[in-house]
Amino acid sequence: MAELEVVSNRLKNRTAVITGAASGIGLATARRLAAEGARVIVADIDPASGKDAAEQVGGTFVPVNVTDEDEVKNLFAQAKEIYGSVDIAFNNAGISPPEDASILDTGIEAWRKVQEVNLTSVYYCCKYALPYMLEQGKGSIINTASFVAVMGAATSQISYSASKGGVLAMSRELGVEFARRGVRVNALCPGPVNTPLLKELFASDPERAARRLVHVPLGRFAEPEEMAAAVAFLASDDSSFMTASTFLVDGGISGAYVTPQ
Ligand code: NAD
Repeated sequence: MAELEVVSNRLKNRTAVITGAASGIGLATARRLAAEGARVIVADIDPASGKDAAEQVGGTFVPVNVTDEDEVKNLFAQAKEIYGSVDIAFNNAGISPPEDASILDTGIEAWRKVQEVNLTSVYYCCKYALPYMLEQGKGSIINTASFVAVMGAATSQISYSASKGGVLAMSRELGVEFARRGVRVNALCPGPVNTPLLKELFASDPERAARRLVHVPLGRFAEPEEMAAAVAFLASDDSSFMTASTFLVDGGISGAYVTPQ
């Protein structure tokens, strides 16, 4: 295990299951939650980076394809078996493939693939994390949506945006349903973040990247660590009065009419 700076003990003795933890926001969050004392299950479809990430945070790698119901069920069972509890579920794995674009050009296969990985996966993860949390009478679920769940993008990725709208609506409803049974459910809505997903999307089109930046009052993309800090807050008791929320961490995008020059 690499040296981890201890940030706090806010999450001591809590088990966190993080999907998509081998890269980007998930990886930064695995590091952050471990630094706050959590025992981390690194869940990802990519075994090489997944194992590496688990080693970095002193956690356990569980290979999972989040679109497979049995594998997701097994993921949370493993967390319980290995660490004895399931306290935090950061359901974060997601894709943004280039074949998902304007509705006029996006075929049903591309549509379905994105819905499966981004939305159905969150349904499975919540469905199989909740029974452990309800039994404990305590838990925090954080589902990764996006700022495009609350505002429309002119440069469309139609299935992606629809999937994130679904994640937001599902999180809100679960937050309401389980509020009085000790389980909080919140949706993290990141603005554009400097991760492989975004880099891949814009590598071929820097003009498109620059066009997006114009709408960010803070004038830059977020770093994955800034999302990880938000997740750590939502995971911890510091956010004990928050559930069913649309937690926007977007550099001001959703608040802006015009941006400063
Ligand atoms: P990333 O590509 O860096 O990481 C995604 C991880 O998910 C990868 O490790 C990948 O192997 C894993 N994954 C993909 N499909 C999987 C599957 N079927 N089963 C298990 N694991 C799978 O992406 P990121 O930018 O860190 O994005 C994480 C989440 O944040 C996604 O849900 C994304 O939609 C969302 N998001 C990202 C941005 C951004 O700008 N990067 C903005 C808003 C929301």
